Amino acid sequence: MHKLETISKKVKVCEKCKLCETRISAVPGKGNFDAEVIFVGEAPGKNEDIHGEPFVGAAGKRLDMILENTGIERKNVYITNIVKCRPPKNRVPSKQEEDACIDFINKEIEIINPKIICVMGNTAYGTLLDGKEITKNHGKIVEKDGRKFFVTFHPAATIYNQKLVEELKNDFRKLAEFLGIENKIKQYEERRCDYCMAKTKHEVVVMPKVVTRKRRWLFRCIECNHERWLQPYRTVAESLY
Ligand code: URA
Ligand code: SF4
Repeated sequence: MHKLETISKKVKVCEKCKLCETRISAVPGKGNFDAEVIFVGEAPGKNEDIHGEPFVGAAGKRLDMILENTGIERKNVYITNIVKCRPPKNRVPSKQEEDACIDFINKEIEIINPKIICVMGNTAYGTLLDGKEITKNHGKIVEKDGRKFFVTFHPAATIYNQKLVEELKNDFRKLAEFLGIENKIKQYEERRCDYCMAKTKHEVVVMPKVVTRKRRWLFRCIECNHERWLQPYRTVAESLY
């Protein structure tokens, strides 16, 4: 059995802190065991607690949307949290809970030995790097104990603050650049949202591997988040490449 599977098994039955009493399922890290990057969040939320998988709820959707925007593919990365069980009402985990759980993430990092660890949000930033004020320090690479960390916002923060979407996308693009991932995204502005017809910005995302062999284009309105696969604008999109 892979060492990460052993950790996952241990997480699932762990009773090292009180969060085990209120959880439905513990949520071990998940993803590619040979990942070059590990993404670290705070703690599972409601959906994660139900499904036993990290970042499958609203924050996960945000993470997917932003990853997709940078060319980093979820299947190539490993995703985990500082604490593996949901704190009641999604409160911030306590210091004791973090301390009880920290061995798991340390082992995940040691086993995968990624090129970089993407620290998302204040909890992960504080716990892994003793950092504060993510708003001032995001978008930077920090070195600690011979490891590289990339500091950025938590994807859930973009749900309440739309302005952070662009900042998080920019950060993730920097991360993609560090990883040498070619950015397949081009943007153009001032189109109508084809879904709600609001006059607003659009982004064009190329997803060459999706659905059939044919290239298709996903148009997403940044402001209202409507998205649609479109053929009619193919030529417009192609002209950008
Ligand atoms: N928020 C997190 O920090 N982690 C998850 O897995 C889901 C939401
Ligand atoms: Fe164990 Fe971590 Fe869950 Fe606490 S949060 S019970 S330490 S897995």
